Amino acid sequence: MNAPLASPPSVKTTCPYCGVGCGVKATPDGRGGALVEGDAAHPANLGRLCSKGAALGETVGLDTRLLHPLVRGADGALARASWDTALDRIADGLKAVRNAHGPGGIAFYLSGQLLTEDYYAANKLAKGFLGTAHVDTNSRLCMSSSVAGHKRGFGSDTVPGSYEDLEAADLIVLVGSNTAWCHPVLFRRMEAARKARGTKFIVIDPRRTETAAEADLHLPLAQGTDALLFSGLLAHLAQSPAFDAAYVRDHTTGFDAALAHARAVAPDAEATARACGLDVEDVARFFALFADTARTVTCYSQGVNQSVAGTDKVNAILNCHFATGRMGREGMGPFSLTGQPNAMGGREVGGLANQLAAHMGFSPAEVDRVRRFWDAPHMATREGHKAVDLFAAIGRGEIKALWVMGTNPAVSLPEADGVRAALKGLDLFVLSENVAVNDTAQCHPHVMLPAAAWGEKDGTVTNSERRISRQRPFLAPPGAVKPNWWALAQVAARLGFGNAFAWRGPADIFREHAALSGFENARTRDFDISAFADLSDAAYQDFAPVQWPAPRGRPQGTQRLFAEGGYFTADRRARFVAPAEVQAAQANDAFPILLNTGRIRDQWHTMTRTGLSPRLGSHILAPFVAVHPDDAAPLDLVDGALARVSSAHGAALLEVRIDAGQRRGTLFAPIHWSGATSSHGRVGPLVHPVTDPLSGQPDSKATPATLAPHAAP
Ligand code: SF4
Repeated sequence: MNAPLASPPSVKTTCPYCGVGCGVKATPDGRGGALVEGDAAHPANLGRLCSKGAALGETVGLDTRLLHPLVRGADGALARASWDTALDRIADGLKAVRNAHGPGGIAFYLSGQLLTEDYYAANKLAKGFLGTAHVDTNSRLCMSSSVAGHKRGFGSDTVPGSYEDLEAADLIVLVGSNTAWCHPVLFRRMEAARKARGTKFIVIDPRRTETAAEADLHLPLAQGTDALLFSGLLAHLAQSPAFDAAYVRDHTTGFDAALAHARAVAPDAEATARACGLDVEDVARFFALFADTARTVTCYSQGVNQSVAGTDKVNAILNCHFATGRMGREGMGPFSLTGQPNAMGGREVGGLANQLAAHMGFSPAEVDRVRRFWDAPHMATREGHKAVDLFAAIGRGEIKALWVMGTNPAVSLPEADGVRAALKGLDLFVLSENVAVNDTAQCHPHVMLPAAAWGEKDGTVTNSERRISRQRPFLAPPGAVKPNWWALAQVAARLGFGNAFAWRGPADIFREHAALSGFENARTRDFDISAFADLSDAAYQDFAPVQWPAPRGRPQGTQRLFAEGGYFTADRRARFVAPAEVQAAQANDAFPILLNTGRIRDQWHTMTRTGLSPRLGSHILAPFVAVHPDDAAPLDLVDGALARVSSAHGAALLEVRIDAGQRRGTLFAPIHWSGATSSHGRVGPLVHPVTDPLSGQPDSKATPATLAPHAAP
């Protein structure tokens, strides 16, 4: 049984699921579980919790936990070992690979579930001391197109607004986001705005989701045409009273080229409707509502990001906010809804292969700045492989050692069966996990390390509105469980780097992270939390949620950015970008239907935690595929029938759900079921390994596929 920490009886922490980052008050129940309630004082949720957050107390048991290090012995079997044995094996393995293959033979694959302090430690060890930039994360799968789009548009990876803007808006446009299911507490805040001030909702999504069902206007556009729709909107805005000529003149560049492109591809509502497969009246209404409503927030999520043209879609949206000057002012602005609890914190410390810590890149000056701050002996000097490429490099035998932390790539990556095969060929495969059994653990790890789980972890996370919050422990770590940062520091010490990793606890790491963010700070860098570089241990313990940037002298943080320009480009101007019109994968004779994958309301990722709650499991019992009635009828598929969905990469057997809200010619299937929870319902193997060329984010929304009735053997 998980033992409660002695005091205090109730601890304020943060939900470990989605990027809303809700505050939670947790009280151990003395029986191994915990009572949870929303934290009324947390600005993200003001006391609310969704079904997943409310069930957190049911998911902290020890039945499925990995409690001791496991090391693979000469007999080929994993056996319980001491931490010293496990850490020695990792250090020796990393040394051997580095000596034989150079630093590029080593990679890390991290997770948006990790705390910022764990992420920082992994990036410092890899990029500064081992010398490899092959450090990527499952956050690549959730928001890297928004990162790339923001960097092109703003010069930085910055979300300009705050959740409060959703309550101050008169129009909320939701693009590629089933907010009601995937960011439920934010959706409740939007609903509260609708009740209080009559806020209108427009949902842009090929599927009639639960969110779309509540919209004032739903635009079920053809898959992949979002950038065209927003180009059409830009052309409309340019000739409407909403056009803010002064903002465009004073704070932006590139407008003329972007407008010329928009007028060429989508000159008016009629042409836009034709290009996007929409009714012209609906498009005209969208254009008019957007133009006529100053207080407009445009939210976007995986339907935008998980695309071969995800970055372009983001920039097409930003263009419309630049053109109207609706940036960083109350109730206005573009808003990326982050999928994971700490996708943003991971970016802050360089958790993507194309980043260094503190939102720095790989320019010689930035590499040198980080090298000097860390006094790093083996600084990586150029970008590493992004997630899909990273596992492809493992498959080709170029990467020999991999350390995976807190994620399940054997299920969640595209072409997941290829990932499984690649993992089994590594010279050194280290897996830091909460659970003893999952699909990745079945891919022949040489060492498994028992990592602290939610309720035991101690550190910080950052949510979608740039708000840093504490995750605090309320349960004692069971067995030999340790935090990830500790395991990384112990390995660093064995490699001879102990002085640079001699942290006493997460507060030391947070202070170092904060100091680096302000080190020789440049006006072209957005991320600065140097106000906390000298935080005391007690102040770290009591740390109240705050939105960055928080430079020295501004510990209260920053609610909004860019109302008066001040972008993080060299000339401080925003950039209009003309989308490149990247051609998405098309259905074809061999694979005539497009498979879209995504989330359901009550499960999280591969269910290793939410699967422990019977309450959550009762929402949707089995893996399914949603099919439009017109696509089902010729195949004699009926509700509840078993269908085989296949692509060029794999196949799954899924229960049919006839759904008139599904766009014809498309399917939808949830991502959550794994080999551990279903013998036949994994959809990861089907997803094509196609990525956005700028962001490297996989296109998980449009894999050409086939649908057929399952003939029982
Ligand atoms: Fe947790 Fe997200 Fe639900 Fe909030 S909305 S309780 S962060 S899953």
